[in-house]
Amino acid sequence: MNIVLLGPPGAGKGTQARVLCEKFGFLHVSTGDMLREAVKNGTKIGEEAKAYMQRGELVPDEIVTTIVTGRISRVKKGTPFLLDGFPRNEAQAGELDRALEKIKKNLDMVLYLKTSPQVSIERLSGRRVCVRCGANFHTKNMPPRKESICDYCGGELVHRADDREETVKKRLTVYENETKSLIDYYRKKGILQEVSGDLDVQRLFREIKNLFSKERVG
Ligand code: AMP
Repeated sequence: MNIVLLGPPGAGKGTQARVLCEKFGFLHVSTGDMLREAVKNGTKIGEEAKAYMQRGELVPDEIVTTIVTGRISRVKKGTPFLLDGFPRNEAQAGELDRALEKIKKNLDMVLYLKTSPQVSIERLSGRRVCVRCGANFHTKNMPPRKESICDYCGGELVHRADDREETVKKRLTVYENETKSLIDYYRKKGILQEVSGDLDVQRLFREIKNLFSKERVG
C-alpha cells in the first residue's frame, strides 16, 4: 500500500507521516526533508533549490521529480512508501504516474488533510523543527519536554525560516494556485480520501487509523 499525504503547509503532514511510518512501516519520502538536507550539505541540488525554498516557491519540477523517482525506484519490494509533500502540481503527479508504471508499483491512496488557513497559519507560526532528525513540535500544541530540545534525539529545535509570516502567506498562495487542483486529479482516479487536518494530532491519527482499517491498510 503506497500513499500520498496531500494538504496545505501546516496541515500536519510531517507529524502524521512520522507516526504513520512508525506504526505501519511505511518508508517516509519527504521532498521538503530531502531538499533541506541537500541545502544543509551544500550539494548541487541544494544550491539550486535554496533560493526557491527561501521565497516559499516551488523548486523546479525536474529537480524534485528526479530525487523522488530515484528514491522510490530503490524502495525494496514489499516495503510500502508514504509520499509527504510530493506531488505538488499536476506535472509532478503525471511524472509520478509514469515513474510508478515503469517500476510496476501503484499509488493506492491519497490522504487529503483538509485544513483551514487559520489553523495552518497558527500551526506554522508556533512550529519548531529539530535540526538533526526533522521531528516537529509546537510551542503551544505539542511542546517538547525540554525547551528547544528534541524529545527524540536531543537535537536543537528551530523556527524554520520559511515558517515566518510573509513566507507562510506565499506558501499558502502557492498551494491554492498550484497544488489544490490535485484534489480533483486524485478524486477522479477514485483514490482520494479526505480527513480533517484541523483535528489535533491524536484525533487526526485516530481518524486515519479508522480509515486504514476500513481500507485494510497495514
Ligand atoms: P515542505 O517541508 O513540504 O513544506 O517543503 C518546503 C519547501 O520545499 C517548499 O516550500 C518548496 O520550496 C520545496 N518543496 C518541497 N516539496 C516540493 C515539491 N514537491 N515541489 C517543489 N518544491 C517542493
